Amino acid sequence: MGDSFEIARSRMVAMQLAMRGIHDARVLEAMRTVPRHLFVPPAVRHYAYTDQPLTIGEGQTISQPYIVALMIQMLSLQGHEHVLEIGTGSGYQTALLCQLARHVYTLEYYPRLAGRADRILSRLGYENLDIHVGDGSQGLPDMAPFDAIIVSAAAPALPGPLRSQMTETGGRMVIPVGSRQDQHLERITRQHNTWQIEQTERVRFVPLVGRYGFHASSDAADDVAGV
Ligand code: SAH
Repeated sequence: MGDSFEIARSRMVAMQLAMRGIHDARVLEAMRTVPRHLFVPPAVRHYAYTDQPLTIGEGQTISQPYIVALMIQMLSLQGHEHVLEIGTGSGYQTALLCQLARHVYTLEYYPRLAGRADRILSRLGYENLDIHVGDGSQGLPDMAPFDAIIVSAAAPALPGPLRSQMTETGGRMVIPVGSRQDQHLERITRQHNTWQIEQTERVRFVPLVGRYGFHASSDAADDVAGV
């Protein structure tokens, strides 16, 4: 995709991703081609390829490029997967997933963000996706199971419905789990009735809202109907 940000994007891939251990060639290639600057508000466009999260409206943020790449790499996508994304936000990560998997179902809580992401994604020609507005903490039972699930907002505990919507043999999920202030990225792999959980990188995401997310008055996991 020829555009004036191509050099900034290549530099981002080399300095922020490859040098920090992102090694999946398909992920690096997708990050080299998706025009991140088109997904952020015009006021912060010139920071699109810098090593930081950016605001996207409705109090939400687009994660820094490294975290997006890391989470997608943790899903080990080969190209044939049905993916569920919770937290469409700007639609940037959705575009990357569309390039890396067969079909992407993405759920966003705020209609305005979903509408904006939808317009940009269709202008860029992505067709292998469905955007839904609603509470992603409950997943999308009608379309389940999913080979891969990626959650871009912090959950107080692993939401039970998402766990059960993973493909039985080798389904995987990446999700930040912890308190409002501080979480760890977890990778969950399912084999039938066994869910293996690996805790990795320390991260800080905006809170997941909705039934299995954080509630306005609480900080703790114990008042949510968790796993
Ligand atoms: N992946 C996004 C990052 C979005 S930030 C990007 O590339 O821009 C996290 C997003 O999760 C926000 O847009 C927020 O509105 C959304 N979110 C939070 N709780 C949600 C829920 N229960 N269901 C769906 N979306 C949710």
